[in-house]
Order: sequence, then structure tokens, then C-alpha cells
Amino acid sequence: MKRKPIMAGNWKMYKNRDEALAFIYQINEKLPSSELVETVVCAPAVYLRDLVKRQGDNLRVGAQNMHYLDEGAYTGEISAGMIKNIGVEYVVLGHSERRAYYNETDETVNLKTKKAIESDIVPIVCVGEELSIRENGTTDKVVGEQVVKAYKDISKEDALKTVIAYEPIWAIGTGKTATPQQANETIVAIRKVVEGLYGKDVADRIRILYGGSVKPENVVELLSTSDIDGALVGGASLKPESFLALAEAA
Ligand code: PGA
Repeated sequence: MKRKPIMAGNWKMYKNRDEALAFIYQINEKLPSSELVETVVCAPAVYLRDLVKRQGDNLRVGAQNMHYLDEGAYTGEISAGMIKNIGVEYVVLGHSERRAYYNETDETVNLKTKKAIESDIVPIVCVGEELSIRENGTTDKVVGEQVVKAYKDISKEDALKTVIAYEPIWAIGTGKTATPQQANETIVAIRKVVEGLYGKDVADRIRILYGGSVKPENVVELLSTSDIDGALVGGASLKPESFLALAEAA
């Protein structure tokens, strides 16, 4: 089964507006065709509209979070409808930094995933284990449970509109990448969980990315495994040259 690769950059809380715009202008014309690879930049909310307005044919724009309700008295929050309204097409959900610092739980990730699907935004649903879990050998179980909870009450058709990102927490921003074999094994295990939920067809078609210290030097090896369909990249997505190299590799 050939799945179209995705190269997604996650800028986190980096860049000023000038830098964000300069980045877009530098990469727009050079990106590989969107027929070959989906390239996405997930930027801080304040730049999303600017980026959408200037995105070239081969670039998509994503948010890094959203609320699961349509509207309300939630100071500081942004709804799916708001980001959809300005042309955003993807959203990162349940990133481990949000789980760790902003009380994101499997339950809120599930609510947000459903809201993103309903709003016609592609959710990039993040799962991943801490180092202690990797060391005690329960990674597949823990990550599998995160997937089951994130997809609660989501239909087969809707599941296919989503993307999963497997990001071992110990590999994020640490320079410690999971080996291609480790990453692939866990992603194979995630695919099995998806198969248990939705059957083989969905498991074969859903895209599962790896994230955690991906850079131009290790991306080819990661992406040449059987089950890794792309990457969610933090640090190495900040420089245009390095992000371009990643997109080309995909
Ligand atoms: P990193 O971050 O590439 O800097 O490790 C990945 C992520 O947090 O998505």
C-alpha cells in the first residue's frame, strides 16, 4: 500500500513575523509537488492568516492547537471554526508539550479530533511514551491506549481523514532520535491497534508520522522503513534550507 508522505514542520513558539514571512517566500517555489508529498507548516496562531495568504501551491498551513468547543467564554482560546475560516487545513493535536504543560488529556484530544474532523481540518494526532515507559518495555501498550482513547466514537470514514504522529517524548528536542527500527516497530504496533479498531483497509491507508529529533541527516533512513509515512519536525523545521531538504527527502 502506497501512502502519500507528509512532511510537517512544527514551529512551536518560535519566529517573529518577518522571519515567518521570509521563510514562506524562500521555500514556496522550491517545494516538491504536492502530488508527491504533503508539506505542512504548523505555525503560531498569530501568523496563520499571513501564511495562508502567501502559501504556494505545494504548501499547506497548520495550527498547533485548537479548542474542542465552537465558541464560548474561554479567554485565550481559538476554535476550529476560527482557524478553518482563515484557510488553515491542518491542526496538531495532543502534542506531548501540550499534554505536559496545558492539561491536554486523552479525553480532550478525542474531543478535539472529533471537532477538527467535523470542521474539515486534518488533525495530526500525537501520541508517544516517556523514557521510563520505553525502558520498562510497555511502549506498545501505552501508545496503543492513547490511540484507542483518541479515536473513541470516531467512525472508520472519519478515521481516514486523520493523521497520527508517533513522537516518543524522550526523543523530542533532545537530539536523541529513536532508531529507524524502534520508530518503525512502534508505528507497526500502532497500525495494528488501528486495524483492531477499524480493520485492515484503514490500517493500511492511514498515515502515521514519526517525530523526535528528525533532521536532514536522519530522515532518509527513517522514511525508508516499511511503516513511517513522514515526519513531524520541530527544531529542524525552523530553517528554510533544512525544511526544504526534509520535504525533498520525503
Ligand atoms: P523536534 O520536535 O524535532 O525538535 O525533536 C518534534 C516535535 O515536537 O514535534
